[in-house]
Amino acid sequence: MTEVLPPSPDIWVDVVVTTPAHSGLGDSLVYRSDRPLVPGTLVRVPLGSRDTLGLVWAVRDTPPDGVNVAQCRPIAHALDALPPLNDHWRTLVAFAARYYQRSLGEVALAALPPALRDLQPEQLTRRLKKQAQWASDASAAPADLPALSDEQADALQALVQATQPVLLFGTTGSGKTEVYLRAVRAALDADPQAQALVMVPEINLTPQLEARFRERFATQGVVSLHSGLTPAQRLQHWLAAHLGKARIVLGTRMAVFASLPHLRLIVVDEEHDPSYKSQEGARYSARDLAIYRARLESATAPCRVVLGSATPSLESWHAAEQGRYRRLAMPGRIGGGALPRLRLVDMNHQPKHTAIAPTLIDALARRAERGEQSLVLLNRRGYAPVLACHDCGWKSDCPHCSAHAVFHKIDRTLRCHHCGHTTRVPRACPECGNLDIAPVGRGTEQIEEQLAGLLADARRPDGQPVRVARLDADTTRAKGSLESRLADMHAGEVDVLVGTQMVAKGHDFRRITLVASLNTDSGLFASDYRAPERLFALLMQAAGRAGRDAAFVAEQGSAVELWVQTWYPQHPLFAALARHDYPAFAAQQLEEREAAQMPPFGHQALVRAEARTQDAAQAWLTLAAQASAGLPGREHLTLYPAVPMAVQRVANVERAQMLVESHSRPALQAFLKAWQPVLHATRARPEAKGLIRWAIDVDPLSL
Ligand code: ADP
Ligand code: ZN
Ligand code: ZN
Repeated sequence: MTEVLPPSPDIWVDVVVTTPAHSGLGDSLVYRSDRPLVPGTLVRVPLGSRDTLGLVWAVRDTPPDGVNVAQCRPIAHALDALPPLNDHWRTLVAFAARYYQRSLGEVALAALPPALRDLQPEQLTRRLKKQAQWASDASAAPADLPALSDEQADALQALVQATQPVLLFGTTGSGKTEVYLRAVRAALDADPQAQALVMVPEINLTPQLEARFRERFATQGVVSLHSGLTPAQRLQHWLAAHLGKARIVLGTRMAVFASLPHLRLIVVDEEHDPSYKSQEGARYSARDLAIYRARLESATAPCRVVLGSATPSLESWHAAEQGRYRRLAMPGRIGGGALPRLRLVDMNHQPKHTAIAPTLIDALARRAERGEQSLVLLNRRGYAPVLACHDCGWKSDCPHCSAHAVFHKIDRTLRCHHCGHTTRVPRACPECGNLDIAPVGRGTEQIEEQLAGLLADARRPDGQPVRVARLDADTTRAKGSLESRLADMHAGEVDVLVGTQMVAKGHDFRRITLVASLNTDSGLFASDYRAPERLFALLMQAAGRAGRDAAFVAEQGSAVELWVQTWYPQHPLFAALARHDYPAFAAQQLEEREAAQMPPFGHQALVRAEARTQDAAQAWLTLAAQASAGLPGREHLTLYPAVPMAVQRVANVERAQMLVESHSRPALQAFLKAWQPVLHATRARPEAKGLIRWAIDVDPLSL
């Protein structure tokens, strides 16, 4: 770390810094250096009046054409105490930038821990000293490992030999985690430097998994990477991985960009989970990048990649059907337990205004009396989605969004779930003064309240009243509250847990024998073509929380059940659900997708525009589409008309989008690349005045 002051600079360095695409600065900036630097070195460079973190991308002996040598500024510092980011890492970043249509600098710098951005060379030296004392030891295996089931043993054996990406199609409770643990063990044992990356959708939702990894691979070998860490922790963990000291990185989608110089295994747990797709900045899919990365790393030595799920994404399922992925199935549950039996509750035959069918209440009471737990799923938080006045028709709309503000009874607020705008519940209708304004519809808060009342007479085996708890974004906001709620559930402190899709994630609850879904139908007829896939996965995953301990179920003599309240019991989705037949469901969905040439058969990108007026947002999109004639790939594309987004206005910003579709991924890619500058130039058109920002979403998950 020497101060570089070039009296006679002779090295020219291309440095990438965080510049958004179209800042007019290009992908990298040229600086000079008076000593050799290797690509991948982090540097501090002057940019305007600031000093910023950059990454050396290329080094040259002669200044590049068209660069004004006199204007090239010297690099301020090279952070070369840190080993450079290697070729594979840079190739991954370059691919992600290209594929998701972002600038190289934006993706590269966003992939680094934020604390690195402001780190001065002296601070880095101190950090590295700390790391030097950090001994990695992933070898402390606990004495007794469970004997693998035959299915697990077969899957593991196939997995460690696979040359293709593996889709581990294991039913809920089949013991996928144990297979991951053994696969990681095998990878680390095979090579004293090997590293493994294990990705999970939301790390806080599954503290159990992290605990299992820490327990199995003595703490120092495991670091986590996710947004819940402090900047200092994240830097520390990132450095441990980058220096090869951490042998295992456990993280959320961002971890796909971790620097892992000896990466030999990537696990993507619950690979169907939408949280693997980023919804801001570069809208990357960590699952798709994991596949790319494993292939890239394999150029040096084999790097395996495993996608695991009981309800794979249709993309992955299709890839397995085509033979691009190797499918390994684990259809049985550990202990031989059965999956829940489906009980459809026909809402057409219930008393008027029924929220929870009387038979279901009764079933919940009987379970609690026997010391069994139940889950009640309702994908809507708050007390009621809207308050309304029945005299004048007033509704609790958010003043800033085209959405209702949700009624939260606990603190008597109306809260917009899109922009966060919060007001007190009015005493009377703001329009007509009517005192009788009432909630319409139901959320988790209300169901929790109703259940507590309806189950008031039931007693647990210990004679205590039945305990109802709630798990959703509102009850888990405070630090540690999610963990404590899950712990209460595991400890049997709670009899009935009401919650949003959070309750359906990979939890290994042992005493649940009943799962109920209340407002299921919203997913049946949603306009988004992925809605059935999502609903099916949600119900299968929720069902998968029940009957996980076969011995407990046998002892209790209980029937394990999935209750679904619906107005459409004849819907074909339920027939496949009753059989737990994901392959049949997937086959039927893929057939429809193929007929309509939708993903994974067709390829899509969305251009999203935000503007002060809906007209401006749409005008910009329409003009950019008109200006796209003749661009490469254009003849293989369909550009749909600009339309308002589902929630058209958020925080007083109007939103519109345009769908671009093609049967050819290369054509779509070539087109987007050529279209970018056109999109940018169209901003200057008077019709687009009022455009605030725009972004491209490649392979969007929701339309
Ligand atoms: P999945 O992720 O496939 O739903 P888990 O990995 O959570 O399933 O495993 C389900 C349960 O079975 C867990 O409690 C786990 O500890 C247990 N388990 C897994 N493999 C074995 C095994 N070979 N022997 C005994 N118990 C096992
Ligand atoms: Zn009114
Ligand atoms: Zn709002």
